[in-house]
Amino acid sequence: MISTRDRLKLFFEKLPLEAKKSLGQNFLVSDHVVEKILDAAKSFSPVELIEIGPGPGALTDHLLSWNLPLKLIELDHHLAQHWREMGCEVIEADALQIDWSPLMKNEKLVLVSNLPYQISSSLVIDRSLDKDGLRAMVLMFQKEVAQRIMAKKSSDAYGLLSVIAQNFWEIQTVCDAGPRDFSPAPRVASRVLAFKKKDSLIKDRKKFLKFAKAAFAQRRKQLKSNLLSDTEWQNKSPTLLPQWLESRKLPLTVRGEELSPDDMKDLYFHFQLE
Ligand code: SAM
Repeated sequence: MISTRDRLKLFFEKLPLEAKKSLGQNFLVSDHVVEKILDAAKSFSPVELIEIGPGPGALTDHLLSWNLPLKLIELDHHLAQHWREMGCEVIEADALQIDWSPLMKNEKLVLVSNLPYQISSSLVIDRSLDKDGLRAMVLMFQKEVAQRIMAKKSSDAYGLLSVIAQNFWEIQTVCDAGPRDFSPAPRVASRVLAFKKKDSLIKDRKKFLKFAKAAFAQRRKQLKSNLLSDTEWQNKSPTLLPQWLESRKLPLTVRGEELSPDDMKDLYFHFQLE
């Protein structure tokens, strides 16, 4: 079988296009990384698939061979056109701007993507806010973003992204990828993560996001000051926050980053926000 690198060469011989930096076009050329992504996606037993950014198709050709319904979201007009001509269902748009709800009818839907790096954090937050829909996601990130997603409390990388992702997904590292696994080679290292949807008691996910944002508003500030300076929670904070901290044997001076994703959820419920 033809290698991912040779496949890419042939693709661009037929369709001569320059890789666009503005669209994060670093194309996969590693058979090993492609295989790892596909194996991870398969482990979720998908019944339907979505791929963001098929590009020249390092993953797409394999996904098509699974004979499952597959939707492609591609912002680059020429690449979108290519996949339409191949008979695929293509949404030519920015994955951050489209309405995902009509796409999320099937609960065994799996999202796969070698994501353009500039949309990756927002994409994870957005998809974490969907209660129904995706069963799982297998996504490539800049390594530093993957570390933020999986970070533990009190570490430098820990923050809003960690709290949101870890509340709504079980997350595992699939593999690392170096600059030479892509063409053109990016300057940064990359990492693939697999996300499995978790059951969560949080019903109003947007409200939880707002609460967590307020808690992390100013990283160096104490949780107390962050919540007190937010108009939405300042009335409840003077009584409810000390109560909760005492029940957890935590000092009043605690900072948002010292609360685990689970603590943040408990505090949110203690504020009776649902
Ligand atoms: N899947 C291919 C691969 O692995 O070689 C290409 C991955 S490349 C890192 C990212 C792809 O996402 C490109 O095809 C790019 O045109 C597309 N893209 C960039 N920004 C996008 C956006 N906001 N929404 C949808 N697709 C986007």
